[in-house]
Amino acid sequence: MSVTRGPEEGVCAARECSQTAQVRITWSNPKIPWATSKIWLSCAEHEAFLLDYLLYRGFPFTTVPIADIQD
Ligand SMILES: [Zn+2]
Repeated sequence: MSVTRGPEEGVCAARECSQTAQVRITWSNPKIPWATSKIWLSCAEHEAFLLDYLLYRGFPFTTVPIADIQD
């Protein structure tokens, strides 16, 4: 078990959640234009929670199902 939560681990980014991610959320903070886009992975259960967080703050984001990501 790892302590950190990086997107490479394929695990949901929500705190206390260890489910396998189903969707990748790429978002950015328009108030920090020099910052690079951030990536969250989310399980199906937490997708709405994480998107609500971004919607509330007005942060632009895109979501892609993990199954559609070609590496
Ligand atoms: Zn989750």
